[in-house]
Amino acid sequence: MAKVKALKCRECGKEYPIEPIHVCELCFGPLEVVYDYEEIRKNISREKIEKGPKSLWRYIDLLPVEEPTVGLTAGFTPLRKAENLGAILGLKNLYIKDDSVNHPTLSFKDRVVAVAISKAKEFGFDTVACASTGNLANSVSAHAAQSGMNCYVFIPANLESQKIYGSLVFKPTVVAVEGTYDDVNRLCSEIANELPWAFVNINVRPFYAEGSKTLAFEVVEQLGWRAPDAVVAPAASGSLITKIWKGLKELVKVGLIDSMNTRVYGAQAEGCSPIAKAWKEGRDFIIPVKPNTIAKSIAIGNPADGMYALQVTRESNGDWETATDEEIIEGIKLLAETEGIFTETAGGTTIAVLKKLAQRGAFKPDEVVVVYITGNGYKTMEVLEGHLHHTVRIKPTLADFREKILARVD
Ligand SMILES: *Cc1c(COP(=O)(O)O)cnc(C)c1O
Ligand SMILES: [Zn+2]
Repeated sequence: MAKVKALKCRECGKEYPIEPIHVCELCFGPLEVVYDYEEIRKNISREKIEKGPKSLWRYIDLLPVEEPTVGLTAGFTPLRKAENLGAILGLKNLYIKDDSVNHPTLSFKDRVVAVAISKAKEFGFDTVACASTGNLANSVSAHAAQSGMNCYVFIPANLESQKIYGSLVFKPTVVAVEGTYDDVNRLCSEIANELPWAFVNINVRPFYAEGSKTLAFEVVEQLGWRAPDAVVAPAASGSLITKIWKGLKELVKVGLIDSMNTRVYGAQAEGCSPIAKAWKEGRDFIIPVKPNTIAKSIAIGNPADGMYALQVTRESNGDWETATDEEIIEGIKLLAETEGIFTETAGGTTIAVLKKLAQRGAFKPDEVVVVYITGNGYKTMEVLEGHLHHTVRIKPTLADFREKILARVD
């Protein structure tokens, strides 16, 4: 593959051939895909991308896949100017990148899975698997169904029931592990050493993670080939944030934009904020925590890419903030009421953090700020119980309608 050079250790730089491996045998550092940017630069152009499919595959020149076979509908989600929310927060150019309507399973995970499973097929695997906080399991299950592969998804047993049904419907084997996500992930690492399965976020992780770059590519294209001044994104393992940054830098490297000066801001739930805490305490290493938050989709206590996510915020002059469970629910409601977008707890976290950052003057009023909404609210409906106003019940008569609705004094 001319565009892809090798896998390379992020710590010691040792290079490896393109195989389903993810750690360096010398230093145990994580492996990352490296590209031949000079070669890519010759073949890529704005016009070629704009003529491409209306999916993340319009960026195939910067993805580690030869020919996509699965996930042909993932990506190219709306970027919408958020006038109402922006007015409340004092931001004249606030945009929402809305992956709550990503296809097929309504979260940003359809991006990483489309890339990971297309790659797993290229490697010749017949079974895919994952360790998941919920959305990944939904997406792996759907894409396995599309591709006719065998599928095993591993989740913490206490997930929201909507998320569990959202996997089961595609008929994978759903393994509900009695423990936290970090327990699930450790178990899956052991299984991945034993069985010839493609664990999308373990042995295929270097390829999986590349899918997140498309969240940077699309935003820049949708802004008219201009990098935003600031982005706000949620962090679980920290991979998404790391790859948004990698994607922005790549656009400059291959000449699609001249320069980029974007600040990257990270959002975590207060009850599981190992990266944000390290940042606030000035550490460059992560101290694992035990998650205790309603934001289950981003509840990773020992984030694999936490250190690199910290580097991104340092390098880009960004920052971190956290949101309590109460603020997360307020965030969900604020986005719904102002912009008509129903997001899940991760999105509630991100909106709550955006609000805090705006209130403490992190953005100038006319800066272009993009907030990443990564998941759909219909998957975490149960957290809203007791937090919404009630329906008004009436008899099917005009008189009752007049009395209970029109004459109502709130
Ligand atoms: C997985 C997930 C994230 C974060 O992903 P990482 O790359 O692990 O940081 C954010 N939002 C939602 C809804 C997710 O499901
Ligand atoms: Zn190494």
